[in-house]
Amino acid sequence: YSADEIAARVAELGKQITADYAGKDLVLVGVLKGSVIFLSDLMRGIDLNLKIDFMAVSSYKDETVSSGDVEILKDLTHSIRGKDVIVVEDIVDTGLTLFRLMEILGSRGANSLRIATLLDKPEPRIKKELKIDYCGFQIPNKFVVGYGLDAANRYRNLPFIGVVINPEEA
Ligand code: 5GP
Repeated sequence: YSADEIAARVAELGKQITADYAGKDLVLVGVLKGSVIFLSDLMRGIDLNLKIDFMAVSSYKDETVSSGDVEILKDLTHSIRGKDVIVVEDIVDTGLTLFRLMEILGSRGANSLRIATLLDKPEPRIKKELKIDYCGFQIPNKFVVGYGLDAANRYRNLPFIGVVINPEEA
């Protein structure tokens, strides 16, 4: 996806969220680090008096595959009790990371809790209950980088989203 295509789609999501959250107490929760560019653009496309906060979680991919859990590396700065929260993710693959994160945030008394992801892969969802409320693009099952997404912490600053053709050389 080119920078222009991404900008157009993110602006659409911003308009949709603006309409859906009028009069609400909106907090965007960015999941570090991949979501930072998406969050930065999305929030400027939302014409509401919103707040932002961040969480960092360890991916199960760094651990044994079977552990199936996520660890909170950085928690929210402010309480989300009574707030209307949208968790902002870069990409949903199996959905495991986000499913666990929604379980954790779901116990904190938010008025509402939804998901916005820039990219969504067609992988079979670990938990089918994971509902994606706002999605930028459905993509094929390939490893992508750019616009916040990394390969070994590189390429996050690419203004477009592309496929890594040879991951060994990434
Ligand atoms: P899940 O728990 O949904 O399987 O994995 C989600 C996380 O895996 C994302 O937040 C991201 O960090 C990583 N991930 C999954 N697919 C890709 C991809 O194609 N490219 C990059 N850069 N990261 C990915």
